[in-house]
Amino acid sequence: MPSGTKPSVLVIGGGPGGVSVARQLFNVADVTVVDPSPYFEVHWGCLRAVVEPALADRMLVPYESIPRLGTFVNGKVAELGEKSAKLSDGTVLDFDYAVVCTGSGYGDAVVKARQASLAERKATIQDAYARIVAAKSVLIVGGGPVGVELAAEILTDFPGQKTVTLVTSQDTLLAGNAPRLGTKAKQWLESRGCKLILGERVSKGPPFTLENSGETLAADVVFWCTGTKKTTEYMVANFQNMLDDSGLVKVDEFLRVEGKEHIFAVGDCNNVKETKLGYLAMAQGAAVAKSIQAIIKKGSGQPKLQKWVPGKGIDLMVVTFGRKMAYMQVKGIVFGGFLPTKLKCKDVFVGKTRKDIGMQA
Ligand SMILES: Cc1cc2nc3c(=O)[nH]c(=O)nc-3n(C[C@H](O)[C@H](O)[C@H](O)COP(=O)(O)OP(=O)(O)OC[C@H]3O[C@@H](n4cnc5c(N)ncnc54)[C@H](O)[C@@H]3O)c2cc1C
Repeated sequence: MPSGTKPSVLVIGGGPGGVSVARQLFNVADVTVVDPSPYFEVHWGCLRAVVEPALADRMLVPYESIPRLGTFVNGKVAELGEKSAKLSDGTVLDFDYAVVCTGSGYGDAVVKARQASLAERKATIQDAYARIVAAKSVLIVGGGPVGVELAAEILTDFPGQKTVTLVTSQDTLLAGNAPRLGTKAKQWLESRGCKLILGERVSKGPPFTLENSGETLAADVVFWCTGTKKTTEYMVANFQNMLDDSGLVKVDEFLRVEGKEHIFAVGDCNNVKETKLGYLAMAQGAAVAKSIQAIIKKGSGQPKLQKWVPGKGIDLMVVTFGRKMAYMQVKGIVFGGFLPTKLKCKDVFVGKTRKDIGMQA
Protein backbone atom coordinates (compact mmCIF):
# COMPACT_ATOMS: atom_id res chain seq x y z
CA MET A 1 0.00 0.00 0.00
CA PRO A 2 1.45 3.38 -0.92
CA SER A 3 2.46 5.33 2.16
CA GLY A 4 4.93 7.92 0.84
CA THR A 5 4.52 11.65 0.45
CA LYS A 6 3.53 11.43 -3.19
CA PRO A 7 -0.16 11.14 -4.07
CA SER A 8 -1.29 7.57 -4.58
CA VAL A 9 -2.73 6.28 -7.84
CA LEU A 10 -4.51 2.94 -8.02
CA VAL A 11 -4.54 1.40 -11.48
CA ILE A 12 -7.25 -1.27 -11.66
CA GLY A 13 -6.30 -3.76 -14.37
CA GLY A 14 -2.87 -4.32 -15.87
CA GLY A 15 -3.73 -4.58 -19.57
CA PRO A 16 -2.18 -2.30 -22.21
CA GLY A 17 -4.15 0.68 -20.87
CA GLY A 18 -3.27 0.12 -17.23
CA VAL A 19 0.42 -0.56 -17.80
CA SER A 20 0.67 2.56 -19.95
CA VAL A 21 -0.86 4.81 -17.25
CA ALA A 22 1.18 3.24 -14.46
CA ARG A 23 4.57 3.54 -16.15
CA GLN A 24 3.99 7.14 -17.10
CA LEU A 25 3.09 8.15 -13.54
CA PHE A 26 5.97 6.29 -11.93
CA ASN A 27 8.01 9.44 -11.20
CA VAL A 28 5.23 11.61 -9.82
CA ALA A 29 3.00 9.26 -7.84
CA ASP A 30 2.93 6.17 -5.64
CA VAL A 31 1.44 3.83 -8.22
CA THR A 32 -0.19 0.49 -7.44
CA VAL A 33 -1.38 -1.83 -10.20
CA VAL A 34 -3.85 -4.56 -9.27
CA ASP A 35 -4.67 -7.50 -11.56
CA PRO A 36 -5.86 -11.08 -10.91
CA SER A 37 -3.21 -12.47 -13.31
CA PRO A 38 0.48 -12.21 -12.41
CA TYR A 39 1.54 -11.51 -15.99
CA PHE A 40 0.91 -8.94 -18.73
CA GLU A 41 -0.33 -10.40 -22.02
CA VAL A 42 0.09 -8.99 -25.51
CA HIS A 43 -3.36 -10.22 -26.50
CA TRP A 44 -2.77 -9.76 -30.21
CA GLY A 45 0.14 -12.22 -30.07
CA CYS A 46 -2.21 -15.06 -29.19
CA LEU A 47 -3.48 -15.60 -32.73
CA ARG A 48 0.09 -16.26 -33.92
CA ALA A 49 1.07 -18.12 -30.75
CA VAL A 50 -1.51 -20.86 -31.31
CA VAL A 51 0.38 -21.80 -34.49
CA GLU A 52 3.82 -20.84 -33.08
CA PRO A 53 3.67 -21.52 -29.32
CA ALA A 54 7.25 -20.34 -28.72
CA LEU A 55 5.91 -16.79 -29.17
CA ALA A 56 4.15 -17.17 -25.80
CA ASP A 57 7.53 -16.68 -24.13
CA ARG A 58 7.62 -13.11 -25.45
CA MET A 59 3.92 -12.23 -25.40
CA LEU A 60 3.53 -13.06 -21.69
CA VAL A 61 5.49 -10.81 -19.34
CA PRO A 62 5.43 -11.20 -15.54
CA TYR A 63 4.45 -7.84 -14.03
CA GLU A 64 7.44 -8.00 -11.73
CA SER A 65 9.78 -7.73 -14.76
CA ILE A 66 8.13 -4.62 -16.20
CA PRO A 67 10.29 -1.61 -15.33
CA ARG A 68 8.83 1.48 -13.63
CA LEU A 69 5.42 -0.11 -13.06
CA GLY A 70 5.07 0.71 -9.37
CA THR A 71 3.77 -1.78 -6.80
CA PHE A 72 2.01 -4.81 -8.25
CA VAL A 73 -0.81 -6.45 -6.28
CA ASN A 74 -2.05 -9.82 -7.52
CA GLY A 75 -5.77 -9.55 -6.80
CA LYS A 76 -9.21 -8.77 -8.15
CA VAL A 77 -11.14 -5.63 -7.27
CA ALA A 78 -14.57 -6.64 -5.97
CA GLU A 79 -15.90 -3.20 -4.99
CA LEU A 80 -14.76 0.28 -5.89
CA GLY A 81 -15.44 3.13 -3.47
CA GLU A 82 -14.76 6.88 -3.59
CA LYS A 83 -11.26 6.61 -2.14
CA SER A 84 -10.58 2.91 -1.79
CA ALA A 85 -11.02 -0.41 -3.56
CA LYS A 86 -11.84 -3.68 -1.84
CA LEU A 87 -10.32 -6.84 -3.29
CA SER A 88 -12.11 -10.20 -3.32
CA ASP A 89 -9.82 -11.43 -0.50
CA GLY A 90 -10.92 -8.49 1.68
CA THR A 91 -7.76 -6.38 1.25
CA VAL A 92 -8.50 -2.66 0.97
CA LEU A 93 -6.35 -0.41 -1.24
CA ASP A 94 -6.67 3.34 -0.60
CA PHE A 95 -6.03 5.90 -3.31
CA ASP A 96 -6.01 9.61 -4.08
CA TYR A 97 -6.65 8.92 -7.77
CA ALA A 98 -7.87 5.77 -9.50
CA VAL A 99 -7.76 4.69 -13.11
CA VAL A 100 -10.21 1.98 -14.09
CA CYS A 101 -8.64 -0.18 -16.83
CA THR A 102 -10.38 -3.54 -16.56
CA GLY A 103 -10.84 -3.88 -20.30
CA SER A 104 -13.10 -6.56 -21.71
CA GLY A 105 -13.53 -10.29 -21.24
CA TYR A 106 -13.82 -12.75 -24.10
CA GLY A 107 -15.90 -15.84 -24.64
CA ASP A 108 -13.09 -18.15 -25.78
CA ALA A 109 -10.86 -19.88 -23.24
CA VAL A 110 -7.81 -19.53 -25.50
CA VAL A 111 -8.16 -16.27 -27.40
CA LYS A 112 -8.26 -13.77 -24.51
CA ALA A 113 -8.08 -15.65 -21.27
CA ARG A 114 -6.53 -14.35 -18.08
CA GLN A 115 -5.20 -17.17 -15.95
CA ALA A 116 -3.89 -17.57 -12.45
CA SER A 117 -0.33 -18.36 -13.51
CA LEU A 118 1.97 -17.85 -16.45
CA ALA A 119 2.60 -21.60 -16.64
CA GLU A 120 -1.14 -22.25 -16.98
CA ARG A 121 -1.45 -19.70 -19.78
CA LYS A 122 1.49 -21.18 -21.66
CA ALA A 123 -0.02 -24.66 -21.27
CA THR A 124 -3.35 -23.43 -22.69
CA ILE A 125 -1.60 -22.06 -25.76
CA GLN A 126 0.52 -25.19 -26.20
CA ASP A 127 -2.62 -27.30 -25.90
CA ALA A 128 -4.45 -25.20 -28.53
CA TYR A 129 -1.47 -25.68 -30.86
CA ALA A 130 -1.49 -29.45 -30.32
CA ARG A 131 -5.24 -29.59 -30.99
CA ILE A 132 -4.82 -27.59 -34.21
CA VAL A 133 -1.99 -29.88 -35.35
CA ALA A 134 -4.11 -32.99 -34.70
CA ALA A 135 -7.32 -31.56 -36.19
CA LYS A 136 -8.65 -32.30 -39.64
CA SER A 137 -11.31 -29.60 -39.32
CA VAL A 138 -11.19 -26.21 -37.59
CA LEU A 139 -14.28 -24.08 -36.96
CA ILE A 140 -13.92 -20.37 -36.30
CA VAL A 141 -17.01 -18.50 -35.18
CA GLY A 142 -16.82 -14.74 -35.77
CA GLY A 143 -15.80 -12.68 -38.78
CA GLY A 144 -14.21 -9.68 -37.07
CA PRO A 145 -10.46 -9.06 -37.05
CA VAL A 146 -9.86 -11.83 -34.48
CA GLY A 147 -11.70 -14.54 -36.46
CA VAL A 148 -10.19 -13.44 -39.77
CA GLU A 149 -6.61 -13.25 -38.46
CA LEU A 150 -6.90 -16.60 -36.70
CA ALA A 151 -8.26 -18.34 -39.82
CA ALA A 152 -5.44 -16.79 -41.88
CA GLU A 153 -2.75 -17.94 -39.42
CA ILE A 154 -3.98 -21.55 -39.56
CA LEU A 155 -4.36 -21.52 -43.36
CA THR A 156 -0.86 -20.06 -43.72
CA ASP A 157 0.94 -22.50 -41.43
CA PHE A 158 -1.04 -25.61 -42.42
CA PRO A 159 -1.71 -25.01 -46.12
CA GLY A 160 -4.13 -27.54 -47.60
CA GLN A 161 -3.94 -29.65 -44.41
CA LYS A 162 -7.12 -28.62 -42.58
CA THR A 163 -10.71 -27.85 -43.49
CA VAL A 164 -11.08 -24.36 -42.07
CA THR A 165 -14.63 -23.01 -41.80
CA LEU A 166 -15.40 -19.46 -40.67
CA VAL A 167 -18.98 -18.56 -39.76
CA THR A 168 -20.25 -15.07 -39.07
CA SER A 169 -23.73 -13.74 -38.38
CA GLN A 170 -22.82 -10.62 -40.36
CA ASP A 171 -23.23 -10.40 -44.13
CA THR A 172 -19.61 -9.32 -44.61
CA LEU A 173 -16.26 -9.98 -42.99
CA LEU A 174 -14.75 -7.23 -40.82
CA ALA A 175 -18.15 -5.54 -40.68
CA GLY A 176 -18.05 -2.00 -39.33
CA ASN A 177 -14.85 -1.22 -41.22
CA ALA A 178 -14.35 0.07 -44.77
CA PRO A 179 -16.07 -2.48 -47.08
CA ARG A 180 -12.85 -2.97 -49.11
CA LEU A 181 -11.15 -4.44 -46.03
CA GLY A 182 -13.84 -7.14 -45.77
CA THR A 183 -13.66 -7.83 -49.51
CA LYS A 184 -9.89 -8.30 -49.35
CA ALA A 185 -10.26 -10.66 -46.38
CA LYS A 186 -12.92 -12.69 -48.22
CA GLN A 187 -10.78 -12.98 -51.35
CA TRP A 188 -7.68 -13.97 -49.39
CA LEU A 189 -9.41 -16.59 -47.22
CA GLU A 190 -11.38 -18.14 -50.09
CA SER A 191 -8.28 -18.32 -52.27
CA ARG A 192 -6.66 -20.46 -49.51
CA GLY A 193 -9.64 -22.83 -49.38
CA CYS A 194 -11.43 -21.40 -46.34
CA LYS A 195 -15.15 -22.18 -46.30
CA LEU A 196 -16.91 -18.92 -45.47
CA ILE A 197 -20.47 -18.92 -44.18
CA LEU A 198 -21.92 -15.42 -43.85
CA GLY A 199 -25.21 -14.36 -42.24
CA GLU A 200 -25.51 -17.49 -40.07
CA ARG A 201 -25.31 -18.33 -36.39
CA VAL A 202 -23.87 -21.53 -34.95
CA SER A 203 -25.33 -23.42 -32.00
CA LYS A 204 -23.07 -24.02 -29.02
CA GLY A 205 -22.09 -27.60 -29.77
CA PRO A 206 -21.11 -30.24 -30.32
CA PRO A 207 -22.75 -30.78 -32.72
CA PHE A 208 -22.20 -27.35 -34.25
CA THR A 209 -25.33 -26.64 -36.27
CA LEU A 210 -26.20 -23.61 -38.38
CA GLU A 211 -29.37 -22.02 -37.06
CA ASN A 212 -30.94 -21.19 -40.46
CA SER A 213 -29.89 -24.03 -42.74
CA GLY A 214 -29.65 -26.74 -40.09
CA GLU A 215 -26.32 -27.90 -41.56
CA THR A 216 -23.94 -29.52 -39.08
CA LEU A 217 -20.31 -28.43 -39.39
CA ALA A 218 -17.23 -30.59 -38.96
CA ALA A 219 -15.18 -29.22 -36.06
CA ASP A 220 -12.32 -31.04 -34.34
CA VAL A 221 -11.34 -27.65 -32.86
CA VAL A 222 -13.56 -24.60 -32.35
CA PHE A 223 -12.57 -21.01 -31.59
CA TRP A 224 -15.28 -18.56 -30.52
CA CYS A 225 -14.09 -15.21 -31.82
CA THR A 226 -17.27 -13.35 -30.98
CA GLY A 227 -18.29 -10.45 -28.77
CA THR A 228 -16.75 -9.20 -25.59
CA LYS A 229 -17.91 -9.41 -21.99
CA LYS A 230 -18.18 -6.56 -19.52
CA THR A 231 -15.76 -6.43 -16.61
CA THR A 232 -17.14 -3.63 -14.46
CA GLU A 233 -19.29 -5.51 -11.90
CA TYR A 234 -17.11 -4.04 -9.11
CA MET A 235 -18.58 -0.59 -9.91
CA VAL A 236 -22.22 -1.61 -9.52
CA ALA A 237 -22.41 -1.15 -5.73
CA ASN A 238 -21.29 2.49 -5.64
CA PHE A 239 -21.13 3.73 -9.21
CA GLN A 240 -24.10 2.09 -10.97
CA ASN A 241 -25.06 5.46 -12.51
CA MET A 242 -21.66 5.75 -14.15
CA LEU A 243 -22.24 2.57 -16.20
CA ASP A 244 -24.14 2.55 -19.48
CA ASP A 245 -26.56 -0.22 -20.52
CA SER A 246 -23.67 -2.38 -21.77
CA GLY A 247 -21.78 -2.02 -18.49
CA LEU A 248 -19.21 0.36 -20.01
CA VAL A 249 -17.93 3.21 -17.86
CA LYS A 250 -19.30 6.57 -18.92
CA VAL A 251 -16.49 9.08 -19.34
CA ASP A 252 -16.21 12.73 -20.29
CA GLU A 253 -13.92 14.16 -22.98
CA PHE A 254 -10.95 13.93 -20.57
CA LEU A 255 -11.66 10.23 -19.82
CA ARG A 256 -12.81 11.09 -16.29
CA VAL A 257 -15.58 8.89 -14.96
CA GLU A 258 -18.72 10.97 -15.32
CA GLY A 259 -19.10 13.31 -12.34
CA LYS A 260 -15.73 12.37 -10.76
CA GLU A 261 -12.60 14.51 -10.78
CA HIS A 262 -10.25 11.87 -9.35
CA ILE A 263 -11.33 8.66 -11.13
CA PHE A 264 -10.58 8.01 -14.79
CA ALA A 265 -11.39 5.09 -17.10
CA VAL A 266 -9.22 3.94 -19.97
CA GLY A 267 -9.42 1.44 -22.84
CA ASP A 268 -11.96 -1.28 -23.62
CA CYS A 269 -13.97 -0.68 -20.42
CA ASN A 270 -15.01 2.90 -21.19
CA ASN A 271 -17.82 4.10 -23.44
CA VAL A 272 -15.71 6.11 -25.92
CA LYS A 273 -17.20 5.46 -29.36
CA GLU A 274 -14.27 4.01 -31.27
CA THR A 275 -13.00 0.59 -32.32
CA LYS A 276 -11.63 -0.93 -29.13
CA LEU A 277 -7.95 -1.55 -29.76
CA GLY A 278 -4.88 -2.04 -27.61
CA TYR A 279 -2.86 0.78 -29.11
CA LEU A 280 -5.74 3.15 -28.37
CA ALA A 281 -5.96 1.87 -24.78
CA MET A 282 -2.24 2.63 -24.43
CA ALA A 283 -2.66 6.10 -25.94
CA GLN A 284 -5.61 6.78 -23.62
CA GLY A 285 -3.43 5.64 -20.74
CA ALA A 286 -0.74 8.13 -21.76
CA ALA A 287 -3.31 10.94 -22.00
CA VAL A 288 -4.75 10.18 -18.55
CA ALA A 289 -1.24 9.97 -17.06
CA LYS A 290 -0.53 13.48 -18.38
CA SER A 291 -3.80 14.77 -16.93
CA ILE A 292 -3.12 13.25 -13.49
CA GLN A 293 0.42 14.64 -13.64
CA ALA A 294 -1.01 18.08 -14.42
CA ILE A 295 -3.48 17.83 -11.51
CA ILE A 296 -0.71 16.77 -9.11
CA LYS A 297 1.57 19.61 -10.22
CA LYS A 298 -1.08 22.28 -10.66
CA GLY A 299 -0.48 24.37 -7.53
CA SER A 300 -3.23 26.99 -7.48
CA GLY A 301 -3.93 27.18 -11.25
CA GLN A 302 -6.29 25.15 -13.44
CA PRO A 303 -4.65 21.86 -14.54
CA LYS A 304 -4.40 21.32 -18.28
CA LEU A 305 -6.26 18.07 -18.89
CA GLN A 306 -5.74 16.01 -22.05
CA LYS A 307 -8.78 15.84 -24.28
CA TRP A 308 -9.31 12.47 -25.98
CA VAL A 309 -10.20 12.42 -29.69
CA PRO A 310 -11.89 9.08 -30.50
CA GLY A 311 -9.66 6.81 -32.62
CA LYS A 312 -6.95 9.49 -32.27
CA GLY A 313 -8.75 11.03 -35.25
CA ILE A 314 -7.27 8.50 -37.71
CA ASP A 315 -9.05 5.18 -37.01
CA LEU A 316 -5.99 3.13 -37.84
CA MET A 317 -6.21 -0.64 -38.02
CA VAL A 318 -3.88 -3.29 -39.46
CA VAL A 319 -5.24 -6.77 -40.18
CA THR A 320 -2.80 -9.59 -40.96
CA PHE A 321 -3.55 -12.40 -43.38
CA GLY A 322 -0.91 -14.81 -42.11
CA ARG A 323 2.82 -14.17 -42.19
CA LYS A 324 3.16 -12.50 -45.57
CA MET A 325 0.23 -10.15 -46.16
CA ALA A 326 -1.50 -7.43 -44.20
CA TYR A 327 -3.99 -4.70 -44.98
CA MET A 328 -4.25 -1.37 -43.30
CA GLN A 329 -7.19 0.99 -42.86
CA VAL A 330 -6.47 4.66 -42.21
CA LYS A 331 -9.35 7.16 -42.12
CA GLY A 332 -11.42 4.73 -44.18
CA ILE A 333 -8.74 4.21 -46.87
CA VAL A 334 -7.63 0.59 -47.25
CA PHE A 335 -4.36 -0.61 -48.71
CA GLY A 336 -2.16 -3.68 -48.54
CA GLY A 337 1.41 -4.41 -49.52
CA PHE A 338 4.79 -3.40 -48.16
CA LEU A 339 3.95 -1.00 -45.30
CA PRO A 340 1.28 -2.93 -43.36
CA THR A 341 3.03 -6.23 -44.06
CA LYS A 342 6.37 -4.93 -42.80
CA LEU A 343 4.72 -3.36 -39.76
CA LYS A 344 2.76 -6.31 -38.42
CA CYS A 345 3.36 -9.66 -40.14
CA LYS A 346 6.70 -10.62 -38.62
CA ASP A 347 5.66 -10.93 -34.99
CA VAL A 348 2.19 -9.30 -34.94
CA PHE A 349 3.47 -6.29 -32.92
CA VAL A 350 4.69 -8.43 -29.99
CA GLY A 351 8.19 -6.89 -30.14
CA LYS A 352 6.81 -3.37 -30.52
CA THR A 353 4.46 -3.80 -27.57
CA ARG A 354 7.25 -5.22 -25.41
CA LYS A 355 9.31 -2.11 -26.18
CA ASP A 356 6.29 0.08 -25.37
CA ILE A 357 6.21 -1.43 -21.87
CA GLY A 358 9.93 -0.98 -21.35
CA MET A 359 11.09 -4.52 -22.21
CA GLN A 360 13.56 -5.65 -24.87
CA ALA A 361 11.75 -6.56 -28.10
C1 LIG B 1 -7.18 -11.91 -30.06
C2 LIG B 1 -7.15 -10.42 -30.03
C3 LIG B 1 -6.43 -9.74 -30.99
C4 LIG B 1 -6.36 -8.36 -30.94
N1 LIG B 1 -5.61 -7.70 -31.88
C5 LIG B 1 -5.35 -6.39 -31.71
C6 LIG B 1 -4.41 -5.72 -32.55
O1 LIG B 1 -3.85 -6.31 -33.47
N2 LIG B 1 -4.16 -4.42 -32.31
C7 LIG B 1 -4.76 -3.73 -31.31
O2 LIG B 1 -4.46 -2.56 -31.11
N3 LIG B 1 -5.68 -4.34 -30.50
C8 LIG B 1 -6.00 -5.62 -30.68
N4 LIG B 1 -6.90 -6.26 -29.87
C9 LIG B 1 -7.68 -5.48 -28.88
C10 LIG B 1 -6.87 -5.25 -27.62
O3 LIG B 1 -6.37 -6.45 -27.11
C11 LIG B 1 -7.72 -4.54 -26.59
O4 LIG B 1 -8.30 -3.39 -27.14
C12 LIG B 1 -6.84 -4.16 -25.40
O5 LIG B 1 -6.34 -5.33 -24.77
C13 LIG B 1 -7.59 -3.30 -24.40
O6 LIG B 1 -6.72 -2.99 -23.37
P1 LIG B 1 -7.27 -2.63 -21.91
O7 LIG B 1 -6.06 -2.31 -21.11
O8 LIG B 1 -8.36 -1.64 -22.02
O9 LIG B 1 -7.98 -3.96 -21.39
P2 LIG B 1 -7.54 -5.48 -21.29
O10 LIG B 1 -6.44 -5.79 -22.21
O11 LIG B 1 -8.80 -6.26 -21.41
O12 LIG B 1 -6.94 -5.62 -19.82
C14 LIG B 1 -7.78 -5.50 -18.71
C15 LIG B 1 -7.05 -6.02 -17.49
O13 LIG B 1 -7.88 -5.82 -16.35
C16 LIG B 1 -7.82 -6.96 -15.52
N5 LIG B 1 -9.05 -7.00 -14.71
C17 LIG B 1 -10.30 -7.34 -15.12
N6 LIG B 1 -11.16 -7.27 -14.09
C18 LIG B 1 -10.44 -6.85 -13.01
C19 LIG B 1 -10.77 -6.58 -11.65
N7 LIG B 1 -12.01 -6.71 -11.19
N8 LIG B 1 -9.77 -6.19 -10.83
C20 LIG B 1 -8.48 -6.04 -11.27
N9 LIG B 1 -8.14 -6.28 -12.55
C21 LIG B 1 -9.10 -6.69 -13.40
C22 LIG B 1 -7.68 -8.14 -16.49
O14 LIG B 1 -7.11 -9.25 -15.85
C23 LIG B 1 -6.78 -7.53 -17.55
O15 LIG B 1 -5.42 -7.76 -17.29
C24 LIG B 1 -7.04 -7.65 -29.92
C25 LIG B 1 -7.80 -8.34 -28.97
C26 LIG B 1 -7.86 -9.73 -29.02
C27 LIG B 1 -8.66 -10.48 -27.98
